[in-house]
Amino acid sequence: MLANKSQHLQWMEIDLDKLVYNVKALRNHLTKGAKFSAVVKKNAYGCGAATIAKAALKAGADSLAVHSLEEAMVLRQAGITSPILVMGPILTTEVKHAVEQRLVCTVVDREIARALSKASEKSGDVTEVHVKVDTGLHRFGTSLEDAPSLISYIYRLSNLGLTGLYTHFSSADEIDRTQTKLQLYRFLKLAKDFPEIELMHAANSAATLQFPETHLDVVRVGIAIYGLYPSVSVKKTVSLKPILSLKTRVVRVHSLKIGEGVSYGLTWIAPRDSVVALVPFGYGHGLPRLLSNRGDVLIRGRRAPIRGVVCMDQSIIDVTHIPGMQVGDEVTIIGRQGDEEITASEIAGLTNTINYEIISRLPAALPRIYLQK
Ligand SMILES: *Cc1c(COP(=O)(O)O)cnc(C)c1O
Repeated sequence: MLANKSQHLQWMEIDLDKLVYNVKALRNHLTKGAKFSAVVKKNAYGCGAATIAKAALKAGADSLAVHSLEEAMVLRQAGITSPILVMGPILTTEVKHAVEQRLVCTVVDREIARALSKASEKSGDVTEVHVKVDTGLHRFGTSLEDAPSLISYIYRLSNLGLTGLYTHFSSADEIDRTQTKLQLYRFLKLAKDFPEIELMHAANSAATLQFPETHLDVVRVGIAIYGLYPSVSVKKTVSLKPILSLKTRVVRVHSLKIGEGVSYGLTWIAPRDSVVALVPFGYGHGLPRLLSNRGDVLIRGRRAPIRGVVCMDQSIIDVTHIPGMQVGDEVTIIGRQGDEEITASEIAGLTNTINYEIISRLPAALPRIYLQK
């Protein structure tokens, strides 16, 4: 599929061949017998849930995981029939949909277990559930102490099928392994009392890359399928290819005399006669305003600095060093041009956040162009 890029002023390009490559490479890295769940929450980290989910399944993912019921419904509406784990909370008033759509729900207390069982009984279904246990992240889940009695309670409900037990690590992307080892130890200690539960799982991308002993029955991999590493300290045991590029094009090229400033507040004053390019891409499109006077973009295969403040819909780029600039020139905000590359991780580093935030906050309205050979 060759994309016709000329119809957009701002767009994302998502390389599905690279997604397939990442999923396969990560699967090959798993300990024997471990299954692969592709995490496609938050619109597949900004990359478009249904398309990414279908490609990941085709590449060998065994199942999908999302945060919310709504996200799962989007996948079902797109015709996806694979198992989908809803990892976040669902309302007792929503359980009907979860049952109807045959979602795998996370159970953390008796109330939601009871509501799911009741709704399943009504329609004559048995709904699959996983129990999430909090082993130290202290976020969502049932406590280690309460887990055994919750599990027994679920066993007494005839319309629930408990097929999984899982936990989530707080610090798997750090160099110090102490916390991950402790959480794994706590989890396995609980798990060994319930050998009949089919799927024990714990690993996110960081643990999948660094700690084979956490792979267990399933890994839940998010950021790595998009070709990004969870943090700078994570070992690159699998070489990943970023799938997402973010692009715009030059809409004006003009000259500044030495001493003239650009953008609101004139926070950058040309230290020499300069040439600047205007791009119709601003913080409203996902270019952090913190990149004002800090970040670069790529034009004609070269890095070019952002000058002045990033506006809601526009930004100004210094192209004094780039000959032959023309209106219409393609500008890469995230991605590669020749030997130069700007990654979501680079932008995250400059703006004091993580690559997850940079990509998952990209507006749903940006056109997404999928590339596939
Ligand atoms: C988001 C999430 C994952 C995936 O995390 P990555 O770091 O993106 O791999 C796995 N498990 C749970 C519970 C999550 O919320």
